[in-house]
Amino acid sequence: MIGKNIKALQNKIDNAILRSGRELGCVKLMAVSKFHSVQEIETAIESGITLFGENRVQEIQEKFPQLFEKYSNIELHMIGSLQRNKVKTVLPFVNTIQSVDRIELIDEIQKHMQKANMQKKVNILFEVHTGEESKSGFLSFSDLCYAIEKSANYEFINPIGFMTMAPFTTDVDLIRQSFKKLKDISLLAKEKFNQLSLNELSMGMSGDFEIAIEEGSTLVRVGTAIFGQRQG
Ligand SMILES: *Cc1c(COP(=O)(O)O)cnc(C)c1O
Repeated sequence: MIGKNIKALQNKIDNAILRSGRELGCVKLMAVSKFHSVQEIETAIESGITLFGENRVQEIQEKFPQLFEKYSNIELHMIGSLQRNKVKTVLPFVNTIQSVDRIELIDEIQKHMQKANMQKKVNILFEVHTGEESKSGFLSFSDLCYAIEKSANYEFINPIGFMTMAPFTTDVDLIRQSFKKLKDISLLAKEKFNQLSLNELSMGMSGDFEIAIEEGSTLVRVGTAIFGQRQG
């Protein structure tokens, strides 16, 4: 079931890429494994998935140490809203935090990376508010620019792009507008910070990944369409 879902998804992703005149391979598929078991995650790995997303720190701690031990080629991103006091706990497990939605998180990440002396940088994406209903993410472009500038000056942080969630609606136009908005904001930011490579655009979930790919997504975060409905 999971293997079959992944195959079907990859086909749809490829078709959306070709339809939009982009090059095959330009969109990464992340499996969002929140609320799903280690065993289900292993099935996804055996079907070729290497990139995972989780949104709760406790669940990451429970599931991923054993997975990292067994599989050396998998990668985990934090995609959910992150409390400041959880930053320290999550950093050893993730190479990217996609949900950086305020300045204080950037300070906290730098502080703990420095303290832990992990000899690596953590990638971050700036979460941008682009839809009426979502409540998290940067709202103003000037705040966003301040955050980008600040993170670029921090030794242990590598800013690589932007993330958004489209509004939860069946209105395709509203969803598309939301993705277009993130693309536009990313272009403005790239122009302003042309020494950085802010190329990652994390947008698109089970219900809207094809629209997101048409609008320039480079990474889709898919849960339900891979693992089925979540219990929770
Ligand atoms: C849960 C979640 C997803 C995946 O949602 P599905 O609709 O199950 O594909 C993607 N992004 C974020 C930030 C999430 O929290």
